[in-house]
Amino acid sequence: MSAQIPFDNSYARLPAGFFAQVAPAIVDEPELIKVNRALAADLGIDADMLESPEGVEMLAGKRLPEGAEPIAMAYAGHQFGHFVPQLGDGRAILLGEVVDRAGRRRDLQLKGAGRTPFSRGGDGRAALGPVMREYIVSEAMAALGVPTTRALAAVTTGEAVYRDTLLPGAVLTRVASSHIRVGTFQYFAAQGDEAALRALSAHAIARHYPDAAAADNPYLALIGGVVARQAELVARWLNLGFIHGVMNTDNMAISGETIDYGPCAFLDAYHPSTVFSAIDRQGRYAYANQPGIALWNLTRLAETLLTLIDSDEEAAIAKAREALSGFSDRFNAAYLAGLRAKLGLAEARDGDLELAQDLLDRMAAQSADFTLTFRRLCDAADGEAGDAKVRSLFADPSAFDAWAQRWRARLAEEGEPAGERSAAMRRVNPAFIPRNHRVEAAIVAAVEHQDFAPFEALLAVLARPYDDQPEHAAFADAPRAEERVTQTFCGT
Ligand code: AMP
Ligand code: MG
Repeated sequence: MSAQIPFDNSYARLPAGFFAQVAPAIVDEPELIKVNRALAADLGIDADMLESPEGVEMLAGKRLPEGAEPIAMAYAGHQFGHFVPQLGDGRAILLGEVVDRAGRRRDLQLKGAGRTPFSRGGDGRAALGPVMREYIVSEAMAALGVPTTRALAAVTTGEAVYRDTLLPGAVLTRVASSHIRVGTFQYFAAQGDEAALRALSAHAIARHYPDAAAADNPYLALIGGVVARQAELVARWLNLGFIHGVMNTDNMAISGETIDYGPCAFLDAYHPSTVFSAIDRQGRYAYANQPGIALWNLTRLAETLLTLIDSDEEAAIAKAREALSGFSDRFNAAYLAGLRAKLGLAEARDGDLELAQDLLDRMAAQSADFTLTFRRLCDAADGEAGDAKVRSLFADPSAFDAWAQRWRARLAEEGEPAGERSAAMRRVNPAFIPRNHRVEAAIVAAVEHQDFAPFEALLAVLARPYDDQPEHAAFADAPRAEERVTQTFCGT
């Protein structure tokens, strides 16, 4: 492993209008919070070098690594349904790309490293709390097996940022298979810049959907590819109780990775209309709205490519509609397959969705904890002795009993040995998710007491979400009434 970062920056080779060249801000006294050593190894970057004084300066944007070409990417976006023709990286700087050990191209981006031409009124900075939240939740998602951007490192800057009060400033080094968003396409479409849309599509196809290059209509194949990946992604979110919180088109990645962890949160008690984000007053991005919003966003993507799909507008619309129509089937199939696995059903039968929905309805009515219900169901799959701990999660425990009878009758139709079934269930129903109250506690300890021990402890547990880890059982607990977090906030 070399002491250098082997950059190869393909986005910076795109036409000038795609980005602005920028220089990160020079901060006072950066200090290391954490380097993700396993991820550094995957990327072929020397973790010891990142932890050295020079490395910490790089992670804070104070020193540019050789080969970096810092740019802020241009993009537009629909924010809560309202189109903004120019957003862009206002507090993020793309250092460049590396090809990882598995041959995958990955972006290295500093989030919170200072102002860019896209900062508008913002300061280009990030506060420590949101940096920690993104680090914790994105790494938890990766360990859960969900496509996501990653956190390579976090540092404090030694400078304060003002967010109603003064808070410690921090920088997150984000790794993504790219930072191309639905909003990137919208940016050029809004300018009527067809040449740029062609170049962007070619770049996105080469990077993420190489098979589309040989398709009869590469633009349609690109849309179809993004539709499929987003359908699978949002199904995973729902199966795990994840709420993104700000599914604006600028926060939806063409790669199919979860991106931009702002006011995101996992459900504690299950309810489909749950919203945590303080700014989502209409519930646009509520838990159960996420598939519909994903399709809405993908429709905005398809619109940007209509003139390239077919010179005849009506024909283009018909073809785009067809590509988008794949979303619902793909989502429904992935979501149902996920539910079957959660319930321990190895075979597909009619009525499975209704069986799962019946449980979810009872959970919603009885405020049952989402993650604990499914995890404890793994024990119930081993025998009725396990039922007591599931039913105790329901406000009226008898609400579980009628459903459990139905479930057992359905399980009995399959020949799978109980031990294998419950083991398979434990591989899809996590014991540990980044519970909001745990994330908050880790942030408070760091911000108020410079104590990063709770952050480290939480990360260690979340790295193995499907293992019981009895010594850390408390991390699986639902919040007590006084610990419950009901609102989360954007990083801005
Ligand atoms: P987000 O809500 O985090 O997806 O951000 C939406 C837009 O606001 C993006 O263009 C960001 O770059 C920009 N933005 C967010 N926070 C800041 C900040 N502190 N300074 C400058 N721009 C920001
Ligand atoms: Mg964003």
